[in-house]
Amino acid sequence: MAMSHLRRLGDLWLGSEPAQRLRLRQTSLAMALMGISAVMLYYAVDVSGREFGPLLWAWTGYSLGGMALIYAAIRSGWSRRFTDPSLTSVQIAFAISCAALGYAQAGLLRGGAFPVLTLILMFGMFQLRARSAYVLSFFALALFAIVMGTMAWLQPAAYPPEVEFGHFVMLACMLPAVAVLTARLSRIRRRLSEQREELARALAQLQAIATRDELTGLPNRRQVQALMDQELLRSLRHPHDFCIALVDLDHFKRVNDEHGHAAGDAVLRAFAQGGQTAMRGTDVLARWGGEEFLVLLPDTAMPPAVAGMERLRQQTAALRIDIGDDKQVAITVSIGLTGHRRGDTLAQTLERADRLLYKAKAEGRNRTCID
Ligand code: GH3
Ligand code: MG
Ligand code: MG
Repeated sequence: MAMSHLRRLGDLWLGSEPAQRLRLRQTSLAMALMGISAVMLYYAVDVSGREFGPLLWAWTGYSLGGMALIYAAIRSGWSRRFTDPSLTSVQIAFAISCAALGYAQAGLLRGGAFPVLTLILMFGMFQLRARSAYVLSFFALALFAIVMGTMAWLQPAAYPPEVEFGHFVMLACMLPAVAVLTARLSRIRRRLSEQREELARALAQLQAIATRDELTGLPNRRQVQALMDQELLRSLRHPHDFCIALVDLDHFKRVNDEHGHAAGDAVLRAFAQGGQTAMRGTDVLARWGGEEFLVLLPDTAMPPAVAGMERLRQQTAALRIDIGDDKQVAITVSIGLTGHRRGDTLAQTLERADRLLYKAKAEGRNRTCID
């Protein structure tokens, strides 16, 4: 019960979108650290015997109000218009300014600002580009230089110039080192994400190679075999008809012999392209091998399947295929079409389609035999 309340509160605070939640979690951590820093600053002011004056109230309003604004900018989705919706640079620059202004008030305990500053810059390690890391650490150094100089001038008793000089030199050595490390991490991150993209591209390419026929772009034998297996399983679960046709180009050897292999390839491509437009979107035309193609007609009874294959046969016969040199060839196909019968294996159905194809050839080609 208490857990679910907590979760609902968390959802309210972070929203539901994963990327947004990650951003806001980061900002929440920054807010918590800001709160702790505020308490520590009050302690430092007290320990240093300084008064809780308007400057401290102003710092409190500035730092807590600024964090609230940043949270609101991200939570409302307003920050999405920027390339970095986490507003990392803005958050870091703002936190740096809070640290510098706090340094001016912390008196004896002002050295506490240095680890805080390092921590702030570490937030950039997850997001920042190398260049932003350098700019921000330079910004921090410049801001602290101004604050140290000003305080040494205004309150030399509490901020002795030689101590401030020492502090400055320390920062001048440490901050660039943090920036260098952040930049290195940023480069590693970039290389990793590039490698990830490359892998994803290679995987997509491999998938295409594994499932597509290279010449025609049609699903290959392996792929259509898997599709037929799926269709068989589906038909067992929710009984429905499906048909399979084997389509073989007639006298294709002649095209190769008379016009060359390249012309033969062009004919195969043209048939594949024309064939797909002749069929319904759910029907699958695949290259079964050589000049033989397979059509899977899922969830289809024989009458519409016959009509579909006749359409394919007629459209193919009407094709005039450019094979270069201003020459065109016409082709025809023979088709063996059969419906899958309950209880049969796919191999049996394929065998029947093959026999019907052979019959179509024997009866004179350019025809569809059905059973
Ligand atoms: P039929 O009407 O009896 O089917 O006669 P056919 O000439 O079409 O049949 P056959 O099996 O004798 O010849 C098929 C030819 O298809 C032989 C083979 O070189 C050619 N072939 C197979 N795959 C390809 C290919 O990818 N590209 C080209 N250009 N030709 C191919
Ligand atoms: Mg043939
Ligand atoms: Mg053949």
